Amino acid sequence: MMNFNDNITNARLAELRSEEEEKLVQAMAPQYGLEYVNLHGYTLNPEAVATIPENKARSAGIVAFDHSHQTLNVAMRSPNNAVTLQVLDEIQTSNRLTIIPYLCSTGSLEHAWKRYADLVTSKSSEKGVFDIDPQEIIKFVKSINKKEDAAEMMDKVGGINNARRVTETLELIFAGAIALRSSDIHIEPEEKVVRLRYRLDGILYDIYDIDRYIYERMVSRLKLLAGMTLNQKQQAQDGRFTFNAGDREVEIRASVIPGSSGESIVMRILDPSVASFTLEKIDLSPVLREAMMLELKKPNGLIVTTGPTGSGKTTALYAFLRASHTEGVKIITIENPVEYKLEGIVQTQTGDDYTFASGLRAVLRQDPDIIMVGEIRDKEVAETAIHAAQTGHLVFSTLHTNSAVGGFPRLIDLGIEPRILGSAVSAFLGQRLVRRLCNECKQSYQASDAEFAILAQIMAGHPKPVILEKPLTLYKAVGCATCSGQGYKGRMGIFEAVLMDKAVEEVVIRDPREHLILEAARPQGIPTMVEDGAEKVLRGDTTLEELERVIELPKINPISPNTNIPPRTGATEKPTDNNNPDLFLSHVVN
Ligand SMILES: [Zn+2]
Repeated sequence: MMNFNDNITNARLAELRSEEEEKLVQAMAPQYGLEYVNLHGYTLNPEAVATIPENKARSAGIVAFDHSHQTLNVAMRSPNNAVTLQVLDEIQTSNRLTIIPYLCSTGSLEHAWKRYADLVTSKSSEKGVFDIDPQEIIKFVKSINKKEDAAEMMDKVGGINNARRVTETLELIFAGAIALRSSDIHIEPEEKVVRLRYRLDGILYDIYDIDRYIYERMVSRLKLLAGMTLNQKQQAQDGRFTFNAGDREVEIRASVIPGSSGESIVMRILDPSVASFTLEKIDLSPVLREAMMLELKKPNGLIVTTGPTGSGKTTALYAFLRASHTEGVKIITIENPVEYKLEGIVQTQTGDDYTFASGLRAVLRQDPDIIMVGEIRDKEVAETAIHAAQTGHLVFSTLHTNSAVGGFPRLIDLGIEPRILGSAVSAFLGQRLVRRLCNECKQSYQASDAEFAILAQIMAGHPKPVILEKPLTLYKAVGCATCSGQGYKGRMGIFEAVLMDKAVEEVVIRDPREHLILEAARPQGIPTMVEDGAEKVLRGDTTLEELERVIELPKINPISPNTNIPPRTGATEKPTDNNNPDLFLSHVVN
């Protein structure tokens, strides 16, 4: 019979032995004049691994784990071994690369060699595994100012020989995305063409039709780059890779799904500055910011941001986490997936056995002060989060509802007692992203009667209304080189919140209908999303048209026949983008 204790002891012993070996190798490295590397926690670069064939790597006791344009980082156990030296010499000559040697443990080598299993079907001999060149990307970035430039350059690439075409097309795709500040690159094969699209400030634009020849080869290249299995074409896969684009490291999260006309690829460009957002940077109205500062100082409670995918919820939560992060507190997150690294915060990612619910229970045993759980999806997560908030933890999460006030009935729908909400919930926030007018080209104009009427109606309900007078100056989008002809550059959040107080608690218990809760929360003096958005329109930060794109505005009757806005139909929800990152790109570029 298996002895449980012995098992633990054996595992622990193996762990100690491996720690011991790492320590030993680390101590030896200076004697060889080499840097030490532990490949266990290292994200191996599959392109680098592929430069040395598996049998050679194993016989020489080496592994290539990373590379730059001219150098190859190779880890080894015995730098003076004759076979090792001979193989290194061969690689250096045949690839015209400078080898940077590192010392590593045998455990590291064994671990890294496993990577070859994913590469078996790749044609690592095919020239060009290596040749996506960051320098080329940087060069292309400089000559792309608008969407049309990217298409034009790809057209030119069509004229050159085939071997270079795949590489250059790929370099152009990345360069175009960086130059135009795209958040996602979509490659969608259809029967005849393969569509390349970029998402710019939340909206997808067709950029170019790639031909199938290039596409077929590009897919393998991208899968290799992202560390995916090449011969697996009937399954969804994800991976990530990074490259250096001059002054910044660009991290790409790639996802591939099978389709009837080929594999569809979406690459999200992760921007590390998202993780540095602060409360000051996320455009909260002054009254809301102050309220949030108070909530964040409390030792317990549940703070939930609401909104559809791509409304900036994660960015807002990160800003809250950063605001509550001090030396004396322990913060743990459960995310799906971890997109941005936050300093000083323990971030975990959901997986097969680690769900939001089981993760939350595990995290609670880690004695945290603050917990962020990516999303409240079911009763189990809701109950655990509420329990955590009631037992001395500050808990952050998100819910898919259309408004802040909608969070109350949603939790009740999930099976939470209305009575419990009062003692657990601190605040529900609602938010959307609107595109920010480009400062270089926005143009002032006099508001039409219809526009004036809409804004006046919104302001009538605002707790601190802006007094409107005719003529009213607004701004419109024009388009220039700075904003790639869009008229907008970057995005900003519009926000609302309902705080828990006696009046709100009382209504939630008695009759939790949204309009009643909203009425009870009115004395809190926090503008609604529409009101916050209208203020930003009046300030010239965005347009009424843009506001209407993301949120329903009040209906008005046409005032005069020459009004240029037609009467509104009662659409209750605006379409939202599904594959859209929670980014406030405006801050990245401004
Ligand atoms: Zn502009």
